[in-house]
Amino acid sequence: MKLLIPSPPRLVLLSVDGLRPDLYHAPHSLGRFPNLNALEQSGASAAAVESIYPTTTYPAHATIVTGLPPRAHGIYSHLASLDPMEKARPWCWFARALRAPALWEVVRASGRRSAGVSWPVSAGASIDHNLPEIWDPAVPDPHRDFETPARHSTPGLFGEVAKVLAPMLGKADPDQMRGEAALYLWNHYRPDLLLVHFVYYDQQAHAFGPASAEALAALDSVDQQIGRIRDAISHDAATTLVVLSDHGFVPVEKEAAPLAVFAEQGLFARGADGSLALRRLGAVAAGGSFAVYWLEKPSPDDRHRLEAAVEQLLTTGAVQEVVGRQQLETLRADPDAELMLDAAPGFYFSERMDGPPVRATLKDRGTHGHLPTRAGLEAAFLAEGREVAAGKNLGRVSLRQIAPTLARLMHLPADILAPDETPLALG
Ligand SMILES: [Zn+2]
Repeated sequence: MKLLIPSPPRLVLLSVDGLRPDLYHAPHSLGRFPNLNALEQSGASAAAVESIYPTTTYPAHATIVTGLPPRAHGIYSHLASLDPMEKARPWCWFARALRAPALWEVVRASGRRSAGVSWPVSAGASIDHNLPEIWDPAVPDPHRDFETPARHSTPGLFGEVAKVLAPMLGKADPDQMRGEAALYLWNHYRPDLLLVHFVYYDQQAHAFGPASAEALAALDSVDQQIGRIRDAISHDAATTLVVLSDHGFVPVEKEAAPLAVFAEQGLFARGADGSLALRRLGAVAAGGSFAVYWLEKPSPDDRHRLEAAVEQLLTTGAVQEVVGRQQLETLRADPDAELMLDAAPGFYFSERMDGPPVRATLKDRGTHGHLPTRAGLEAAFLAEGREVAAGKNLGRVSLRQIAPTLARLMHLPADILAPDETPLALG
C-alpha cells in the first residue's frame, strides 16, 4: 500500500518595497500589473496594512518577520549610527540586532530550510541559503557593491548565483537581478521558506514620485518578476505565495533641513580638529520623519536651544506634528529618541546642515517615514494558496499580524511570533 504523506507547506514571501495598495487596485491600474491583479482575484488581500513608526524599510521588515513593533524587536530606524556628522553611516544590516525570534528561526527549529534574497536585517541570520542586503556605506552606488554581500552570504552561494547573474549585469534593473536569484534558489534548493526583497519601485518612487511614469514602469518590472516566480511555484499545491510591502509612499515638493535650523540655534560646536559636531545631540532623517536624540545629558541651555529650533521649524510649515517621548511609547517606537518630527504633506526631511530651513526639492519627489496612520503610507498584502480563500478582502490589518499569519501558513507554531497578535483569517 502506498502511503500518501502530504508535503509540508512552503511559503514564498515577496516584499515589494514601498508598494501602495491603491496603485494596483482597479481602476487606477488601468489594466497594468496583471500578476498583482491576478493575485487579488485568486487570493486574499488587505485593503490596507497599517505599518509601524517610522514607516521605513528596515524597522518594517523586522516587524514582518517578528510580528513585533520596533520597541520590541530592536530595529528603531534604518541607521545603526545616530551621528549625522559621520561620513558613511552603517545601516541595521545584521540580524543579531533583532531582540526577538524571526520567522527563519522558527523554520530552522522545526527542521526546515529557508533562503533569502536581499532581505533587510538578515546579514548573519540563521537562513540556510542567504544572500543578505548589505553594502559598504562608503561606496557611491550600493547596487554595484558585490564584495560586501558576497562576504556576508552563505559560504560559496554568492559566487554560484553571480555566475547566473553575470550576463544580466549592466542591462537588468535591480529587481530583475533579485528575481533571477530567487528563481535560482527556488530551483536549486527548494527551500521551505523563500524571502525576497524587491527595491526598484521604492528607488524610482523616491526619485520621481510614487505615481510617476518611472515608478509605475518599475512596478511593471516587478510585476513580471512576481509572474515568473508565480509560474515557477504553480506546480506545487503546497506552496503559498505572499506579496506584501513595508510601507506606502507620498509625493513631496519641498525639502526641510532641521540640522540647518539646529546650527542656527547654536546646537553645533567645533571639535578639537575643527570639524562641526552636534553638541550632545544625535539625529536620523527618515524622509517623512526626523528623530532627535540626546546622546549626553543636556544642559538647560541645550534644552532651550532645541525647543527654540523646533519652534522655528514649526513656523516653516514643514512639521505636521512633534511626536514626543510619551507618544513614541504609545506607538511602541524608538525608546531612545527625545522627539520625532513628522513632516507636513509635501515636505521631507534631509540631513542638509546649511542654507535655508526649507527649499524646493532638488532630488526626491517621493518619500515615506511618517506616522503609519497618514494617508498614503498604507502597505500592501496579498496571499494565494490552497489554504487561502479566493477574492477575500481582509480589510485594514496591522503589519504586526503578518508574522503569525506566515507561521500559521507554514504550519509552524504561530504563538512563538507575536503571541499578542491575531493571525489573519485567510481561509
Ligand atoms: Zn521600504
